[in-house]
This record gives sequence, C-alpha cells and structure tokens, in this order.
Amino acid sequence: MIGDFIINASILVTFLFIYFQLLQTSFIKKQKKMTKTIFIGVAGGILTLLLMTFSIQANDTTIIDLRHIPLLISTIFGGWLSLFITWFANITIRFSMGITPSSISNLIGMTLISLAYLAIHFKVHNLWKKTFLMILTSNTIFLILTYSLIPDKVYFIQLNLIFWPTLFGAGFFTVYLFDFMKKIHHKYDEYEKFAVRDPLTGLFNIRKFDEKMNELTQGKEMMPFALMVIDIDYFKNINDTYGHPNGDMVLAQLGRLLQDSCGTTNFVFRNGGEEFTIIMPECLHHSAKAVAEKLRKSIADHRFAIDHERKYITLTVSIGVALFPYSSKNTDGLYKLADLALYEAKNSGRNQVKISHPGADSVPLKMQASSK
Ligand code: GH3
Ligand code: MG
Ligand code: MG
Repeated sequence: MIGDFIINASILVTFLFIYFQLLQTSFIKKQKKMTKTIFIGVAGGILTLLLMTFSIQANDTTIIDLRHIPLLISTIFGGWLSLFITWFANITIRFSMGITPSSISNLIGMTLISLAYLAIHFKVHNLWKKTFLMILTSNTIFLILTYSLIPDKVYFIQLNLIFWPTLFGAGFFTVYLFDFMKKIHHKYDEYEKFAVRDPLTGLFNIRKFDEKMNELTQGKEMMPFALMVIDIDYFKNINDTYGHPNGDMVLAQLGRLLQDSCGTTNFVFRNGGEEFTIIMPECLHHSAKAVAEKLRKSIADHRFAIDHERKYITLTVSIGVALFPYSSKNTDGLYKLADLALYEAKNSGRNQVKISHPGADSVPLKMQASSK
C-alpha cells in the first residue's frame, strides 16, 4: 500500500511538472484565456485516466484511486469549463470500463461533487479554506454513497477510515504543489519581462536594443531599417523646476506617446536616462525623415501632465537618424552616426531632426545585395 501511495504521489508530481512546462511554452502562452481553460480541463482528464489506472490497493478487497483530485484542481485553477471537461472525461473513462452499478454510482458521485466544488469555488476565496471544504465535501459524499451501497458495515467503516485521510493528504499535497508551481512560473515570467523591459516606461531596455540591432544587421533577419536616437531638450530644467518624480512622470508619458505613435512594426526602447531609440524596419531614407519630423512635432504639441495631473507642461526633443545599411553596416558604427546626428540637432538649436549622410540613396538592402 505504501508503494501505491508513492506511485500515486509520483504521478501527481511528474504530471504537474510536465503540465507546467507545457503551460510555459510560447504556443500555450500566446493562447486566449478560454483555450488555457480548456487545456486545464483536458489535462485534468488525462490525470484522471492515469490515477484510475494506478489505483491504491488499500487492503485485499479495497481499491482506492484519487480521481477526485483532477476535479479539484480543475475547479480551483481553471473554473467551471475546466471542471466540466474533467468531469466529462471522468464519467466517460469510467463508463468505458463497463456500464455497472459502480459506474452509475461514479456518475452520481462525481456530478454531486462537481456541483459542490463549483458552489464552494465561487463562495470561498481563501485557497486553503476552499481546499479543505472541497475535500470535506468529497469525503462526505463518498461516505453517504458507500453507506447506501455497501451492506457490510465493518467494511464500510474500514473503507472510509482509509479514504478520508488519503484524500485529505493527496488533496492538500496537490493544491500546494500546483500553487507553488504557479507562483514560481509567475515570478519567472516577471523576471523574464523585466530582463528586457524598462520598469518606468514599460518600453524595451538597452539589452533588448542590442539584441534587436544584432538581429537586424546580421544573418537571416537582416533588413534595412532606420535608427532614431531621441533625446529630450533641457530635461535637467524639468527636473530642477518640477522635481525628479514629475520628471519620471514625463518620461513615462513620453514612453507611451512614442509607443503609440510607432505602431506594432517598429520597436521603441528606453536606452537610459531621457534617451530613447526607435528601430524602424523597412523604413527608407525619405520616409525616415518624414516619420521623425512627424514624431518631433507631435511631441512638441503634446501636453505632459505633472503634479498628479494638476498642471501640464510642454517639451521638445532632438532626433538623430541613421540608416542601415546606408549610413553604416555595423551596429556600433550605426549608433555612433545616429548619435552624431543627434549632437548636430542639439547644436543647431534643438527641437530638430538630423539625418546622417543625407545624400544616401534609398535602395533596399536586398536589391543592393543582388545588384552586386
Ligand atoms: P540637452 O538638451 O542637452 O539634452 O539637455 P538636458 O538637460 O536634457 O541634458 P543632460 O544630459 O544635461 O541632462 C539629462 C538629465 O536627465 C539629467 C538627469 O537628471 C535626468 N535624468 C536621467 N535619468 C532620469 C530619470 O530616470 N528620471 C528623471 N526624472 N530624470 C532623469
Ligand atoms: Mg541626454
Ligand atoms: Mg537631454
């Protein structure tokens, strides 16, 4: 019997581990909430099949399995749809073993348990209280069903004495494991996100900038693009006049404005301080100039809220633009040229756009390569 317990615990741990690894795949992560809910329900069905196959031999005549557990985790972590799918799998698996009084009693028992789980799920919010009440309900329904089905009362008592602690132990163990894995994956997602994002603006950070620049200038993903380096004019004055927290508010709003103006095909970064960059794939020379001008103007026209939206200020930016591969064919060179153009914009009075090598032709990279 101890061996059976270990097998069942191993099934639960292994299954939950594989299940969470699958949840972490980019394919599943991209799916809508509804699809994830269905996934939880189907996983519950598979776990039901495994647990029914590897049951616990309680004594010479009694077999116990943990088929309640998938229903429990589907309800707690997936909701009604996951529960329904797992319930359906449970009933189907049991009936596929034969239409007997036992499978009919399984149908009645599992349906009652599922309805009770739903009611508890929506009424009780504390995870451990919820788990306790759900297991208590399962055990009570098991007690009533076995009382009415088993004439031998000694056997009935024996069965319940084994079943109650088993389900409490396995139930709490599974919910603890599920909750633990969920928290770990949530933390992992956060670290992954902030490894490439700037927390103040939510924009990509310098690490992602380097990665994207390398990606677009080398190998398979190589394509022409415009690089814009944007720097706020006299930002120190804003900090000095309105304070650093207001300066932060302005940076966050500018970040949002840049992101909103750039659409989904371009990449916006905060490279540090009050310096932002934009990578615009497939953006040619004449359009880069127009896009940068439009951006400069929309920033100059924007009213930035400070002092918790009690006051509004305006600001300007200077923009330096360099084009890959026309200005330079390597990332460092390209960044230096864009920065040089920015320096020129600053020196020419600020609130301007300057392009490196303004005479460069606007021939796309692929065409240039094939004409060699
Ligand atoms: P210029 O037109 O020449 O760019 O003038 P500037 O004042 O904008 O440039 P400078 O480089 O002298 O100053 C940039 C300022 O940006 C200095 C620093 O206090 C401020 N800054 C950098 N990072 C942050 C930040 O995260 N939050 C806030 N509020 N200010 C920052
Ligand atoms: Mg600066
Ligand atoms: Mg500045």
